[in-house]
Amino acid sequence: METGRTGLLIDGQWQAPSNVVTVWDKYTQQEIAKVAVATPADVDRAITGAQAASRTVLPAARRQEILLKAADLLVAEQEEIVALYIAETGFTRTDAVNELKRTADLYRLCAGEAVRIAGEEIPVAATPGSENRMAFTTRVPVGIVGAIAPFNAPLSTVAHKVGPALAAGNAVVLKPAEVTPLCAMAVADIFQRAGLPAGYLQVVCGSGRTTGDALVRDNRIRFFTFTGSTAVGRMIKANSGIARVHLELGANSASIVANDADLDLVARLATKAGYRKAGQVCTSVQRLLVEKGVFDELTEKMRRNVGALRFGDPRAQGTDVGPMIAAKEAERAASWIAEARRGNDNVMGGQLDGSVLEPALIIDPLPDIRLLNEEAFAPVVTLVPVDSVDQAVQQVNDGQYGLQTGLFTRDLDRAFHAAKSLQVGGVIINDTSSYHVDSMPYGGVKDSGIGVEGPKFAVQDMTDPKLIVLNLNTPKASKEGN
Ligand code: NAD
Repeated sequence: METGRTGLLIDGQWQAPSNVVTVWDKYTQQEIAKVAVATPADVDRAITGAQAASRTVLPAARRQEILLKAADLLVAEQEEIVALYIAETGFTRTDAVNELKRTADLYRLCAGEAVRIAGEEIPVAATPGSENRMAFTTRVPVGIVGAIAPFNAPLSTVAHKVGPALAAGNAVVLKPAEVTPLCAMAVADIFQRAGLPAGYLQVVCGSGRTTGDALVRDNRIRFFTFTGSTAVGRMIKANSGIARVHLELGANSASIVANDADLDLVARLATKAGYRKAGQVCTSVQRLLVEKGVFDELTEKMRRNVGALRFGDPRAQGTDVGPMIAAKEAERAASWIAEARRGNDNVMGGQLDGSVLEPALIIDPLPDIRLLNEEAFAPVVTLVPVDSVDQAVQQVNDGQYGLQTGLFTRDLDRAFHAAKSLQVGGVIINDTSSYHVDSMPYGGVKDSGIGVEGPKFAVQDMTDPKLIVLNLNTPKASKEGN
């Protein structure tokens, strides 16, 4: 693959890197590209360039125009980008096309936000002694945003960071995941052709430990937007000084199924949400907490659906589940499934072939297995019988994570009561934990993170309110005749 995109974009030029790392096709294990590993000195240069760019805030209408153009180019260049996406992630074509279309719409949402940024009037005149004063805020860009992305949504998580940051008038330094940098590089190229002047989007590919760490420790960056594991999120918070942070972290999401739920709907949506992208989605259905009255019936429906999933080559027509991101991750997940098998022969699937893990279903496991308590990030769903919706809510609240929870019931009172009690960032009634459209405020509580994404909310956080106060003198009475 020869695109001229080296993985190190500084001030509008792809730079020749001193170190490179190979990016592999996640299914064939063939080399796809060699990409820069930005050194701390490279990161420093990228931030210096971003700082210079950020001194001139692009007009809002121009930002809108660039974001709209980028969205159009993304769609126009779909085939090239989908091919890169499938190769570097191992996800299926359906996953790739869905994410690309969604990402183009996300840039369009950001374009809309670029021209809606506004402050507010502050009623200072209501304070005795300030009757003659007037105050308002304008919203100004924070300056430089540092964006660090995970492997599992290389188009849309990058867009949830770059889109709002540019819409808000900032410069961005982007570090994609080292195993999936190619889509992000293609998007950076698109932004250049969409008219984004040099310096506003710098790209530093490389490892978290070297490149990411150098970015996080640079105090010229005023805002970090990070999506990834909870362990790395903790490090970023600890190392980023007084910069503000959005941390979109891990989860072991649950969906609760009440006795009155529409079980065909549950089975259809949970199968999709548990196994797409080989289960490597932060809101994947990892646990289905099912009231006992419908446990057997739902189990049968899930068995049928999971047994029908086709897995293996992500480029083959009709494949539902491709390989996992790396053989070692598939081996880890297989070992968790092996743990669930001990003392429980009600386990379906889970055979390992390189990095392809057969979709697995764990039925009524022992309570302390890792699949119930940690983040699996793999094509495996666990069905757990519960006595009541309240007990299920308690199980969700007892866990360390709090991203989103699904709840299937036809009973409005029960739905609202549970929604009020659940300690999570989002409660989705009659769909799974994985429901997500990009205009939503999206983020977790507890170990799932802080702050919310979604263009409107992220743009707000990526700007600062600047206060302007006027001390208005009483005008002198004008002379007669003047
Ligand atoms: P990861 O935490 O291993 O890596 C994420 C990014 O952080 C990568 O770019 C990596 O290079 C970088 N990084 C690693 N160490 C760093 C350090 N010390 N300093 C700075 N940067 C560093 O995550 P991953 O394996 O790529 O992605 C999977 C994780 O992402 C899962 O835990 C998943 O739940 C989470 N995720 C969360 C959401 C959400 O919205 N909550 C969405 C997608 C993925």
